[in-house]
Amino acid sequence: MGSIIWTYLIDEIMAYPEFPNHDDFTAISKVLAGECEGEITIRGWIYRTRSSGKLAFIVLRDSTGSIQSTVSKKNVTESSFSDARKALIESSVIVKGIPAKDDRAPGGWEIRASDFEVVHFAETFPITKDQSDEHLLNNRHLWLRSQSMVASLKIRSTVFKAFRDYWTDNEFTEIQSPSFTTSACEGGSTLFNVYYDDEKEKTGQKFYAHLSQSWQLYAEATMFGLENIFTLAPSFRAEKSRTRRHLTEFWHAEVESAWVHNHQMMELEEGMIMHIIESVLSSNRKELEILGRDISVLENIKAPFERFTYQEVLDKLNSMGFDLSWGDDFGYKEEKALTQDLTSPMYITNFPREKGFYHRPDPNDPKSLVCHDLLAPEGYGEIIGGGERVWSPDELTERIREEGLEPESYGWYLDIRKFGSVPHSGFGLGIDRTVSWICGSDHIKHVIPFPRTMRRTTP
Ligand code: ATP
Ligand code: MN
Repeated sequence: MGSIIWTYLIDEIMAYPEFPNHDDFTAISKVLAGECEGEITIRGWIYRTRSSGKLAFIVLRDSTGSIQSTVSKKNVTESSFSDARKALIESSVIVKGIPAKDDRAPGGWEIRASDFEVVHFAETFPITKDQSDEHLLNNRHLWLRSQSMVASLKIRSTVFKAFRDYWTDNEFTEIQSPSFTTSACEGGSTLFNVYYDDEKEKTGQKFYAHLSQSWQLYAEATMFGLENIFTLAPSFRAEKSRTRRHLTEFWHAEVESAWVHNHQMMELEEGMIMHIIESVLSSNRKELEILGRDISVLENIKAPFERFTYQEVLDKLNSMGFDLSWGDDFGYKEEKALTQDLTSPMYITNFPREKGFYHRPDPNDPKSLVCHDLLAPEGYGEIIGGGERVWSPDELTERIREEGLEPESYGWYLDIRKFGSVPHSGFGLGIDRTVSWICGSDHIKHVIPFPRTMRRTTP
């Protein structure tokens, strides 16, 4: 921990001398690891509590774990004992005592309390066992304290760090693009419009900006200076259909790289996925266990991942009983059927050219694109969309027209192709979807603190 924080805390303590020093406390995980001898002090929130006339058994949690403390009437002051009996779950408390090995206690250790102080008495907690998803979502601000949320969010943090580390170690530069934009890159139907007040005076009309669906167009402009770049940012899509894997605000990990071809980008992505999986396996075994995730499934993921063309997948799906023709999109049902028995992710390449104007048509097979999706196994489906970009200015203009868009509205984007255009590739990884897969979660909303969907913007 940074010493600046501690200096600040020490100042605080000087101002409020009754508040104990941070270093005086022990993390619960340390006690459970058997690293503590003699009297210690822990602090946290009451997770479970029950008491009799002479004893109170209080399970306490902090961010590192939970442990039972036994408060005996004969070992603490009368007022402490009565507070210990009275305090409801989620009350914040400080407990002093001696750790003792006890096989009957959850986690194998308990604390025999010599002092029990309630910092704040909680009101009756509105979340009890077995509540509906809707109730938990309405109380998300409180549900974030649950073991499962804490476990998912720790894994999420590892995934963010692993993504960053991987690309930074490959000498990519982290960069940011605007969230207010005026040009769409993923199709108009999922665009969010924002009333953009400032422009009103200039045009005399209401002016709407869009929220960014992807950094794509900005990435390509930024790439010409930095060559290899990545970002971690929210993207916004008005997803009308309700699925287990769509949010309206999701975290998008995007990469763009000059001089790199589609197949080279796919290899880099494989390395990234393996690095993310390995990082979670080395940092989050405890959290995976809390979530009930079968760890061996993650341990068995192996690169290189299998590669199929869109046409091959189409044939395979049709042989499984689907009725699809060239140009059809693969939705959740199709991707589930393709991936439910897989143990590692799979690539699909050469999608039909209708997928988007900035993808590069395959010179050997112009009805398809030099692009790829990566599908996670176990039925999860798409987590990455990527590929090579059109790099000739004339071809790009033609592609924009082909999609029924006006080249004039892509003025600056076309401009960047006019000054030393180069082959380049990139991709977007949905972080929330990736975390959902790694956690073995049945819905993307379980792995983001405050999920946003078409029906929910609170809390
Ligand atoms: P889908 O077909 O599943 O909607 P997409 O083809 O629209 O995905 P891309 O535009 O390729 O997705 O975006 C790149 C990645 O961003 C996707 O592979 C996915 O992991 C993630 N992603 C896209 N839309 C969402 C969303 N609404 N919520 C969460 N993640 C998303
Ligand atoms: Mn989509």
